[in-house]
Amino acid sequence: MSKPLSAYNAKRDFRQTAEPRGKRAAGAGNSFVVQKHAASRLHYDFRLELDGVLKSWAIAKGPSLVAGEKRLAVHVEDHPLDYGGFEGTIPKGQYGGGTVMLWDRGRWEPEGDPGKDYGKGRLTFRLDGEKLHGRWHLVRMRSRAGERNEQWLLIKSDDEWARAEDAPDLLDEAPLSVATGRSMDEIAAGAGSGPNLWQSNRAGAEDAAAAPGPARAKPERRPPAPARKAAKAAPRKPAKAAPRKAAKAAPRKAARKARKAPAGR
Ligand code: MN
Repeated sequence: MSKPLSAYNAKRDFRQTAEPRGKRAAGAGNSFVVQKHAASRLHYDFRLELDGVLKSWAIAKGPSLVAGEKRLAVHVEDHPLDYGGFEGTIPKGQYGGGTVMLWDRGRWEPEGDPGKDYGKGRLTFRLDGEKLHGRWHLVRMRSRAGERNEQWLLIKSDDEWARAEDAPDLLDEAPLSVATGRSMDEIAAGAGSGPNLWQSNRAGAEDAAAAPGPARAKPERRPPAPARKAAKAAPRKPAKAAPRKAAKAAPRKAARKARKAPAGR
């Protein structure tokens, strides 16, 4: 196996960039972060801490709370843990150029052995974030010739945090930063916090990875039983169902809380 974060480091010139040099962190944490990234194409970077790095996927459509709904998650290179604290702008023309928002963060808890399951391409875990909660699956699809990045699917399991198909979309409902309460426009304008300017010398492979390819719905193997069941026949709650707990995590409240905190690290 190659050195940890070698792909991350190879994409960046650390004489030019203020981004953290990629090195594996000590200790076994369990953080997760979702960064909303308006690059050439808007996407959500989903990152799970594992073995001192952030395992990373670029999700063009973002996570869905609808049980069984598959969201294409393109596997990208591991990122250093420090990256999970970044919110700001990356200059146009640089690697990942655009605006980065800390859209969600918290802890994740794998079911089973996460290292083994990651290798097998089927992770089941719980998220305890400010926006995302409950049980989720990440399932790798069969690789195809010429494919640059592994394609995975992020799928919400059916639990009390799942939403009906016609319920409001969390992405619209909670669009602001969990770190600073800022909108993408405010971050792009550098409002309310110091400059977070990162530079890189390569074109955005991550953006390319997030670009929608031909639609594929066939997992490499069958997803774990609960996902299979959920995907097949998720009981749909009536639209008028009482608001779920996730709906109560109002963005405004999160924003207020965040504004009191020191500006993003
Ligand atoms: Mn990205």
